[in-house]
Amino acid sequence: MDTNNLTWIEISLTVDGELAEAMAAVLARFAPNGVVIESDVIFVNADNPGTPLDEVRVCAYLSVDEKIEETRRKVEEALWYLGRIQPLPAPTFTPIADQNWMEAWKKHYKPISVGEKLIIVPAWLESPDVVRIPICINPGMAFGTGTHPTTQICLELLEKYLPVGGDVIDIGCGSGILSIAALKLGAVRVMAVDIDETAIEACRENAKLNNIGEELIVIAGSLNEIQAKRIPVIKAPLVLANILASTLIEMLQAGLADLITLDGVLILSGILEEQVVGVISSAQACGVSLVEQRQKDDWVGLVFKWKLDPEKTLWRKIIH
Ligand code: SAH
Repeated sequence: MDTNNLTWIEISLTVDGELAEAMAAVLARFAPNGVVIESDVIFVNADNPGTPLDEVRVCAYLSVDEKIEETRRKVEEALWYLGRIQPLPAPTFTPIADQNWMEAWKKHYKPISVGEKLIIVPAWLESPDVVRIPICINPGMAFGTGTHPTTQICLELLEKYLPVGGDVIDIGCGSGILSIAALKLGAVRVMAVDIDETAIEACRENAKLNNIGEELIVIAGSLNEIQAKRIPVIKAPLVLANILASTLIEMLQAGLADLITLDGVLILSGILEEQVVGVISSAQACGVSLVEQRQKDDWVGLVFKWKLDPEKTLWRKIIH
């Protein structure tokens, strides 16, 4: 294969030696060129041939093509399952540039109209549409270029459910695409969090590209940081989380639904068709009910609101 025109994303994790093989087997499913297992070696004395340290770096290279976001999702999903057996660190995604890096990269991105009002425009292009609201995105290393069905579902649902003039919480903001869209659609303030530093950086950069300032607050973290009230917005009429189903279920069990106000809307996406039942039942166990389910390809987005149960409403009013 001629790799000269290709661009790669290196995915790497540092794990203990025991897990390295299993990890390599998982990554090999997605990496056409194989997987590298690197380990540091210490030399105890001149005769010592080198003793591998227990920590091992496993890395694989994903080729950047139009399926890169789908591949990245699948890798994260596969690693999540592996992480159930033994806790894993979050993977790092790093671009590997070659001489045609920018050209190869740009080739894959075109403006995309989403929903009724939005158009996602790669940073180096002008919007071809003067009516739609442009969301300018530099597709860096963070997820959220607008090409993935889960992002598009969220944008469509955002258009439909965003209350005029409210706050929004975006958990797993990635490139910041949903946060930026929310502000351009009329949100007053958006609180964006992500556990990945690359995403935080990308989100801030994309915000600048869209002339967004202090109305977008971006913080490294997750549900915990919001619940610990370490950020200015801890409850909102609209909360978005486009993450993996497994993570959404964990977050629901940890109180995700409580971030929405009494008349608030919770939009969850990143869910595969076969995972819908699990997410819905976890959400229902928290007292919210499903108001809409939207699907694109294999991916589903779900919208929840508090059940209109007067007693429960009263009860919630008292404790909140
Ligand atoms: N909101 C963007 C990006 C979604 S990709 C969009 O809709 O396109 C999911 C993002 O969630 C990634 O950036 C990932 O780093 C982040 N993420 C994964 N697990 C998380 C967690 N537990 N808490 C917060 N963010 C998380």
